[in-house]
Amino acid sequence: MIVRQLRNATVLVSVGPHRLLVDPMLSPVAAMPGFRMVGARRRNPLVPLPQEAEAALASATAVVITHEHPDHVDAAGRAWIMERGLPVWTNGVDAPSLAKKGLDVHVLSDGSLGLEVEIVRSRHGKGLLGWVLGPVTGYYLAHPDEPSLYLIGDSVLTESVIEAVERLQPDVIVAPAGAANMGIGGNILFSVEELVVLAKKARGKVIFNHLEALDHCPTTRQELRARMASEGLADRVLVPEDGEVLSFERPPAASPSRARPRPHAAERPGFQKWLSSKIAGA
Ligand SMILES: [Zn+2]
Repeated sequence: MIVRQLRNATVLVSVGPHRLLVDPMLSPVAAMPGFRMVGARRRNPLVPLPQEAEAALASATAVVITHEHPDHVDAAGRAWIMERGLPVWTNGVDAPSLAKKGLDVHVLSDGSLGLEVEIVRSRHGKGLLGWVLGPVTGYYLAHPDEPSLYLIGDSVLTESVIEAVERLQPDVIVAPAGAANMGIGGNILFSVEELVVLAKKARGKVIFNHLEALDHCPTTRQELRARMASEGLADRVLVPEDGEVLSFERPPAASPSRARPRPHAAERPGFQKWLSSKIAGA
């Protein structure tokens, strides 16, 4: 399996026969407003897509969207998907509104794309703020011949995330590490302290992204690498630059067999999804 970091949460995952473009935010620099509600605002994204993005995008065979916020699928991303006619795989909560915007939407479930799949509940912040930012999910994806992958999506550290990490023991985890804060309320993504806990609970490699691309994500790659090194985690935690390619091998057959994914109860998009769409401008 190959994971190419493009920018923020946008990555291209090569797994089995697929080239999955995850969470395409494809806007040029400053095409979107800042996400901080108070304090200094800068327009997003802060940085351009890397040079390598063009070839990576051209190779995509499908799109995976963790949630419908503009830093995970923006207008440029939607236009690009439609132009290419690529199928979009997502959760049952975001599927109806993405379909209304004209995308060819499919709901992920175990067996989709020939992968073992589990939808894991995430939480985009604590307390009321986490609720207002909407129902969010992450995806566990495992191809029989490849390392297993858990894309946590936007989340703080929750019991459901920890439970999934301990039960599924993903070979590779991708976690959003920018410690986003909108200027009101607490962090809406993992704090650095929570990332340390997450990395210590993980058995495999942990990729930190969602960094240095948005105005509300203050954590830097440099400080994160230094902190992980001081925790003795430098060999398992990867903090890629945009454009960087990470390769992973399937662990030896002697390693414990994989836990089977659990089914995820179907959810209907309700008031929470409606409200979060208004607030996030999705
Ligand atoms: Zn995000």
